[in-house]
Amino acid sequence: MTPSWQLQAESLGALLKESRRVLALTGAGISTEAGIPDFRSPESGLWHDRDLMELLSARGFRRDPKRFYERSLAMMPQVLTARPTSAHRLLTRLERAGKLSGIVTQNIDGLHQRAGSSNVLEIHGTYRTGHCAGCAAGLDLVEKLRKDPSLPPRCEFCGEVIKPDIVLFGDLIPLDVYAAASGLLDQSDLLLVFGSSLSVAPVTELPDRALARNIKLAIVNLEPTDYDRAAALVIRAKLGEIIPILNSALGFAKALEGLGRRD
Ligand code: NAD
Repeated sequence: MTPSWQLQAESLGALLKESRRVLALTGAGISTEAGIPDFRSPESGLWHDRDLMELLSARGFRRDPKRFYERSLAMMPQVLTARPTSAHRLLTRLERAGKLSGIVTQNIDGLHQRAGSSNVLEIHGTYRTGHCAGCAAGLDLVEKLRKDPSLPPRCEFCGEVIKPDIVLFGDLIPLDVYAAASGLLDQSDLLLVFGSSLSVAPVTELPDRALARNIKLAIVNLEPTDYDRAAALVIRAKLGEIIPILNSALGFAKALEGLGRRD
């Protein structure tokens, strides 16, 4: 018998085909198959570690930037080396096919851009770049850490500590990025959620806004979310399992075969 997630994936393929413009909202779950752990999956449980949350806050960074870097890089060493997953690549194909209004991501790993997507709003910023806390000079943080792994990284001009361009707990939310995300949503007829627990405010404003405007909501996430009951479609499966079905439904599989890939 065909497992139910397989049938649901076919339904999602049909929904994507009939949608005019899709806004993708992605969370840490899209990158777990690239080897970067999320925070809220039951087995990782990092979210319950109060000391860690304090360390990863704006105050924790100011207090001890060396420990901040040591812990964050120990938690996500792959953030410097990871490669995009089949789900990142599917979204890039949707963009090139003119179906995507954009990607709103909570992730800081830069994998959407590495997959070739261009219209990406990083609402929690990115670990790939940083700025000097003293003179505000910007730099490629990944490159800097690769060349010189001493922590914390320091500005080559003034010697001050470099802060990654991520939104830390306690930092101000980038309101302009949220406004842009809402604008993209309003031009869309489907909000497609890939790998997010939809539990971090104000990200939850996007599914709320979609529902209030009769924009369809489709969710692919291993764990249940508070929005499952209101969604047009919910799939509780690994993204890596359903992507080949979506590639076939959307006609991307043939092009991939031509390249000798299954994806
Ligand atoms: P989240 O709230 O988006 O939750 C991740 C969800 O993904 C979980 O509910 C889990 O069930 C699901 N999931 C895991 N693997 C999956 C898979 N293969 N297929 C489908 N679903 C899968 O994210 P979070 O972990 O709670 O993190 C919150 C914040 O922490 C993020 O908004 C981000 O700023 C930061 N973070 C970023 C990264 C990254 O950049 N890759 C990683 C960890 C945390």
